[in-house]
Formats: sequence, C-alpha cells, structure tokens
Amino acid sequence: MISENLKNITTSLPENVTLVAVSKTKSVEEILEAYNAGHRDFGENKVQEMTGKWEELPKDIIWHMIGHVQRNKVKYMAPFVHLIHGVDSLKLLKEINKQAKKNNRTINCLLQVYIAKENSKFGLDPEELTQLLEADTFKTLENVRIIGLMGMATFTDNKEQINNEFKFLKTLYDQLKNKYGLKELSMGMSSDYTIALQNGSTMVRIGSAIFGERNYN
Ligand SMILES: *Cc1c(COP(=O)(O)O)cnc(C)c1O
Repeated sequence: MISENLKNITTSLPENVTLVAVSKTKSVEEILEAYNAGHRDFGENKVQEMTGKWEELPKDIIWHMIGHVQRNKVKYMAPFVHLIHGVDSLKLLKEINKQAKKNNRTINCLLQVYIAKENSKFGLDPEELTQLLEADTFKTLENVRIIGLMGMATFTDNKEQINNEFKFLKTLYDQLKNKYGLKELSMGMSSDYTIALQNGSTMVRIGSAIFGERNYN
C-alpha cells in the first residue's frame, strides 16, 4: 500500500519537486516500507517524535521538521535535522543558530508565511517577513541559512480560495527570491498539492495520501 501510493505520487510530480513524506504518528515499520521503496525525505511535526525515529532508523534519511517548533526543543534535532519548514520568528532563528553552531553545522530553514483565512498563531505576514530578512541581528547568524518560504492554505473545499492563497505566496516568493537567494517554496499537502504544483511549489508535504489516515494528532 505505502510503496504503491508513494510510487503513484512520485511519478506524477515534476522532476524538480521534492516529496516530503509526512510520517507523523506513523510507526518505524511504516517508514521503513517507504524507505525500502527508495524514499529518503520524511517530515515530522513534533521534535521528540522525529528524534526518536531518527535514533531508530537508517542514518541516510533526510529529516524535515514541518511543525511549529518550541525554542527549548531545537537542541534535540540540531545534530541531524535537514530542513526546518516552520520558522516564524527571529527568536527561534537565533536559537537554531546557537544549536547549529554547537553541532558545527549550518541548518537550512524556511520562513513560514501566513496565507490562510483562518485564525492561526503561526506564520509571518509579508511585512514581518521582510523585516526579519532585513534585521541586522539576522545578518549575523552564520549557522542558519534561509533557503525559502513555506505556507499552508485554508482547510476548505473551495479550490479557488486555495489557489488564490498559493498564488499569493508564489508572488511573494518571486519578489524576494533573487535578493535573498531563495530556492524552495514548500506548499501543498495531500488534499491540495496539485493546486500547489500549479502555483510553482518546489516541495510538497504529503502524509495521508501515502500512509493512510492518521489515528490521532
Ligand atoms: C500533517 C501535515 C502535512 C501533511 O498532511 P496530509 O494532509 O496528511 O498530507 C503537511 N504539512 C504540515 C505542516 C502538516 O502538519
């Protein structure tokens, strides 16, 4: 099932698009099924869960943190995390920089932009985004690299609305990418990734369409 789903999705994606298989709540056995089918990029939304899986699973797995990150948890994933998708403050970025430095690493990050018409605490608006990129403190952080933007559309059946939200993020991305050297645009989940791809997504984060419905979380 898992390897079949993975194959169907992978073959439907443009070549330059990264598929992050979102394995939150799923067992190491289920992850291994995808791994044995050749997949390497996995996404988790909780630091402890990801760290536990990292300890148990093959070390060539490329781990993506896709959830909201608390600062006091950064240290656990700093030794191995490949990309942190949901960075939304300078405070968090400073902590990531500190922990990356301790591990002699540079950690790649995406800045999360708030694009949905829902009440959410997470994500920057366009103004906050440029403020962060222009902040003097940010420029001194040598062990973090901002490589792109991430966004989540409203949870709705209204495809036009989802399309508008992704289009908005793509426009913002295009305005900033040359100046700030951005190269990744993380948008699209199981229910809306085809719309995200039409709007220039370079990374889709897909869970249930690969692993099946989640029991909890
Ligand atoms: C859970 C999650 C996903 C994947 O959701 P599916 O609907 O199962 O594909 C993608 N992005 C984030 C940030 C998530 O938390």
